[in-house]
Amino acid sequence: MYLVSACLVGVNCKYSGGNNETLWIKEWLKDKNCMLVCPEQKGNLPTPRPPAEWKDGKVIDKEGNDVTKSFMLGSKLTFEEALNKAKESGEHIELAILKANSPSCGSGTIYDGTFTGTQITGDGIFASMLKREGIPVVSELQETEVCR
Ligand code: SF4
Repeated sequence: MYLVSACLVGVNCKYSGGNNETLWIKEWLKDKNCMLVCPEQKGNLPTPRPPAEWKDGKVIDKEGNDVTKSFMLGSKLTFEEALNKAKESGEHIELAILKANSPSCGSGTIYDGTFTGTQITGDGIFASMLKREGIPVVSELQETEVCR
């Protein structure tokens, strides 16, 4: 079973109300069992919502609100749901393809909390939960690694 950020297949769950549709992912998933995830919506955050970034161990949105609890809750619930779904289908989670740089889904790099597009080393909260369980995480920028 594969986990995929819902915004990457065209679901309008991005903070702006839009999506990050990525055609190679939609094509690659056609014959695969996948679960679409959006940890931020799962945490009851509205769409659209202000963009948010990690800063000093908290997730702060562009209006200055601390939204860490919602981010943590959404990722935890999504993670539990994914484990349950994998168990029910008798599969394990082989891979997660998650949106690059997101404070929830980012893997390897995230934005630095200045809302300037500056990237730093780190993982979003959902990606870090998966990695802790040994589940490989890639982003939409790693097509050659997934499709080789
Ligand atoms: Fe939802 Fe993750 Fe996409 Fe953000 S990056 S909109 S949390 S699926």
